[in-house]
Amino acid sequence: MNLQCTTELAAAYKSASQIARVLTEEWCARELYCPACTSDRLSPSMVNTPVLDFTCPECKQAFQLKSLKNWNPKKIVDAGYESMIRSIRADKTPNLLVLQYSKDWFVRNLLLVPRFFFSESIIERRRPLTPQARRAGWVGCNILLAQIPIDGRIAIISAGSPVPADQVRAEFARTSGLAGIPPLLRGWTLDTLKVVRRLGKPRFTLRDVYEFEHELQAGHPRNHNVRPKIRQQLQVLRDLGMLRFTGLGEYALRD
Ligand SMILES: [Zn+2]
Repeated sequence: MNLQCTTELAAAYKSASQIARVLTEEWCARELYCPACTSDRLSPSMVNTPVLDFTCPECKQAFQLKSLKNWNPKKIVDAGYESMIRSIRADKTPNLLVLQYSKDWFVRNLLLVPRFFFSESIIERRRPLTPQARRAGWVGCNILLAQIPIDGRIAIISAGSPVPADQVRAEFARTSGLAGIPPLLRGWTLDTLKVVRRLGKPRFTLRDVYEFEHELQAGHPRNHNVRPKIRQQLQVLRDLGMLRFTGLGEYALRD
């Protein structure tokens, strides 16, 4: 999984970030495939933009790639806060690919966050830029990767080793029913799924989930019927095939 940096190439570009960008672009053109369908490539959709964008030539899904040398698995810096919130509400966020390379230009990790895992609760508003800044008052955001349910963090390359493509595609397909839930309701579904995953057990009761009632309430301050909402969302997760009722007052996760 080498980005294949040559000294000539390195000399041709002024900064490490330029080298990283060119190498990443080339690597993606050679190695990336679509996790949402059987296409064995993704096409760069725009050139000379600050971010790298790709589109699947077959299913037309959009992907945005961020590549970094230093990897913070908890959060990643993104662009403007308001535009991110608007794009979540309009259901227009692309699938996110986060690529981490080593100092000797090896791809260490490549993580996929399917677009239907974006909700307002994973977006952190950053402090406005200071009055001295060129874009004074501008507000950026962080994507809180650690707040995404584990189902929405799909490894394509892990610690330098590629995960088989059919496994990546199966993981993407397993949760893709979430895309059918309207974006304003999907936040509840994702927060409920996150809580269920945090329980860390394959079977659980409603009472287990109610333990998180205050946390869910804090994330959805305008909803005053949290328990009925939790029950409704467990049904949604069941209808998506991610849970089943055991008939003994218990729920079981499907893997
Ligand atoms: Zn595709």
